[in-house]
Amino acid sequence: GLSRRLSAIADLVPPGARVADIGSDHALLPAWLVSAGKSPCAVAGEVRDGPLKASAARIEADGLADRVAVRKGDGLAVVAPGEVDCVVIAGMGGALIASILEAGAAAGKLEGVRTLVLQPNVGEDLVRRWLLDKGWYLAVERIVEEDGRWYEILAAQRLPDADGLNAALYDASFLKLDRPAERKKELLLRMGPWLLRQPDERLAGKWRSELEKLAFISRQIERSDSPDAARRRQEVLEEIKLIGEVMACLQ
Ligand code: SAM
Repeated sequence: GLSRRLSAIADLVPPGARVADIGSDHALLPAWLVSAGKSPCAVAGEVRDGPLKASAARIEADGLADRVAVRKGDGLAVVAPGEVDCVVIAGMGGALIASILEAGAAAGKLEGVRTLVLQPNVGEDLVRRWLLDKGWYLAVERIVEEDGRWYEILAAQRLPDADGLNAALYDASFLKLDRPAERKKELLLRMGPWLLRQPDERLAGKWRSELEKLAFISRQIERSDSPDAARRRQEVLEEIKLIGEVMACLQ
């Protein structure tokens, strides 16, 4: 079976969707989707030769080669416009995910794509920002824990009224924080508009772990003698305070 993270990603793929998994590495996800009958066919895209060859050999051995195409290429270059209904990009930084989507959109590769399932390892705000700017409705957000790490999984849909739905979703007035509306919207982009509306143990766990990282960074800065150390440390402390306030106001 799939790991907890990959299985949460697979859950958000609409049944029956033809899928492209970009940066597929081992191609575990497309192999599972097709074997389980959730997807009729899939494309596994990968830039590196090693994983590409290993995946192709496994797909062949599993008898899935007629339904899973393993292709070498950068981002969405591996799919033709209209070829898939759903694109998955998982296990990379948010900046890279946004740049793959941006280049793919410019090349028409998102035409006909109805669903994006994205799992940034860091920089989730950059992915949410891209979706919002490009008129993709952020429909679902999940957090999963695997091996002591927290992962956010975002699913976005192309809907006629995406902008209106997003406007309501990113209305931050539910956050009882004494901060300007613009600042609160940034917090929604950073921490997730659905995740903050449905706070649970996983959200608390993820942000406890982020606060620990920030505290560590602040101690590192304290020990450095770079000229802007004081300013940088102040920024980190501000951030710790802000995140603490958000978590407290959700109680
Ligand atoms: N998606 C899998 C998962 O979530 O388990 C694998 C994640 S792995 C950490 C990231 C993969 O993305 C690597 O195999 C890397 O080679 C690939 N990758 C990075 N940039 C890429 C790009 N521009 N186009 C296609 N693949 C890329």
